Amino acid sequence: MNNAIFNFQLPQNEAMLDYKKGSSERNQLELELQKQMGSQVEIPLIIGGKEVRTNQTGEVRMPHRHSHVLATYHKATEKEAGMAIAAALEAHNVWSNLSWTVRASILLKAAELIGGKYRAVMNAATMLGQSKNIYQAEIDAVCETIDFLKFNAYFASRIYGMQPSSAFNQLNKMEFRPLEGFVFTVSPFNFTSIASNLNMAPVMMGNTTVWKPATTSLLSNYYLMKIFMEAGLPAGVINFIPGSGALIGKTVLASPHLAGIHFTGSNETFNSLWRDVSVQLPHYISYPRLIGETGGKNFIFVHPTASCRDVAVNAYRGAFEFQGQKCSAVSRMYIPETLWPEIRTELLTICADAPMGDVTNRGNFINAVIDEGSFDNCMSYINYAKNSKEAEIIAGGKGDKTSGYFVEPTVIVTSNPRFKTMVEEIFGPILTIYIYADDKMEETVKLCNETSPYGLTGAVFSRDRVAASVMCEQLRYSAGNFYINDKPTGAIVGLQPFGGSRASGTNDKAGGEFNLIRWISPRTIKETFQPASDYRYGYMTE
Ligand code: NAD
Repeated sequence: MNNAIFNFQLPQNEAMLDYKKGSSERNQLELELQKQMGSQVEIPLIIGGKEVRTNQTGEVRMPHRHSHVLATYHKATEKEAGMAIAAALEAHNVWSNLSWTVRASILLKAAELIGGKYRAVMNAATMLGQSKNIYQAEIDAVCETIDFLKFNAYFASRIYGMQPSSAFNQLNKMEFRPLEGFVFTVSPFNFTSIASNLNMAPVMMGNTTVWKPATTSLLSNYYLMKIFMEAGLPAGVINFIPGSGALIGKTVLASPHLAGIHFTGSNETFNSLWRDVSVQLPHYISYPRLIGETGGKNFIFVHPTASCRDVAVNAYRGAFEFQGQKCSAVSRMYIPETLWPEIRTELLTICADAPMGDVTNRGNFINAVIDEGSFDNCMSYINYAKNSKEAEIIAGGKGDKTSGYFVEPTVIVTSNPRFKTMVEEIFGPILTIYIYADDKMEETVKLCNETSPYGLTGAVFSRDRVAASVMCEQLRYSAGNFYINDKPTGAIVGLQPFGGSRASGTNDKAGGEFNLIRWISPRTIKETFQPASDYRYGYMTE
């Protein structure tokens, strides 16, 4: 059936399960955690639907117990990157011509598998491989992954319904062609859902991809790939090639068939991809679409009328959940001096209370940072603050990488609003606070706007709604996702479309029409029923 005009209904967001002790979801998850901890998976490349082994291998370890190897994986070389491009181009013929509703049905089937049969698998792999507690894994690997899949099918149906009008004696149509070539998808470690969406958004619109996953999230990403295949994704539509980003990137960008890059990760990596594409421009068949969501230096600005308890709780969650490794995590705050004593007390009480440790101990709120590089990076910022006269560490400040990469949630108070940790993205559990004089609020809002090159997320806390509205205007370009009286993390697909501007990326708002539209190249077709029969125009024939 390829002749129906079809619309998907607006989906409901996937409901979180609560994993209370004794619940069936909790029991299944415990069993799956034991299973995954008791075995070592071998992760091959998957190219053209076939497993490929290069025997150049690496290991996937648990961040919170780094002696434990969860998986070994095969690394792609130039040869396999070339094979992945060939497979993606071959699959393009069938996939791009398939009815979009069939493509959508594969996304919906994958959502069904993740929400049901593989819920525990996806959660356990994300908990163990990326060091997320149950809550953080469930909102990412299950709920957000499912939401991206379902909402993309819905938003695609709206895009396909957009047609131009037709004037007298003519018929105008818009064909939504997938891009000509393949899409290179490069995913970060921190969200399983992002890895899924970077592939499935272009795939929904008829494209095929070469996927370079982050090494530190390989376990969950490999299971995702297998689920996509079980859901009916044809061979070659997504080609999964773990390995060195620099090596794979070089080979892939050299192909004239590169039609786009769908990237989430750091600025440095996106900038280098952009640079490499720009110098090779004449060599590509089309201008590659470059879509990238990158870093952030997200803030909370506190107005003197704010509720201190609200500020402290939301600052703690916003800064330290998943060890501050959300692109949207709060990492700088501006607090009026009149409120600081109360907020300080509230914040320090929570810091002293929240436990840190292994994800398999359910009481732990804080787990490990992703790897040794991240641990060392966090500690270098903490040591910088320890040695500075402009900063004081009031909570945390210690780290231990003996058995897992644990960095204490750390709160720095600085007298310099442009202190290094107020400006640079750290991507770890470190929050820096600048206390401002209440009568210097205007200047401080300006400072907040100008301090960092990023523009991803930000929040204001204020009981004065007019003041909040003024700050919202003043901070217009400082955040692509702006919050009033809420923490600036936890955007939900379909409710708060996500993405930032300035150095934070191209702001194509993942999980909605804005992003999906980037993966098509519309063709306009005009048909005339009465072609011109005389070359002269009316005014020439009087
Ligand atoms: P990263 O840039 O180190 O890595 C991202 C991916 O790029 C990985 O798969 C990596 O292997 C690959 N890569 C590295 N060099 C490459 C190259 N030369 N060519 C091709 N691929 C290459 O980022 P990360 O550490 O995985 O993720 C953390 C970063 O991601 C943070 O900066 C965070 O703010 C950002 N992030 C942003 C968003 C957003 O929506 N704005 C969401 C999540 C994460």
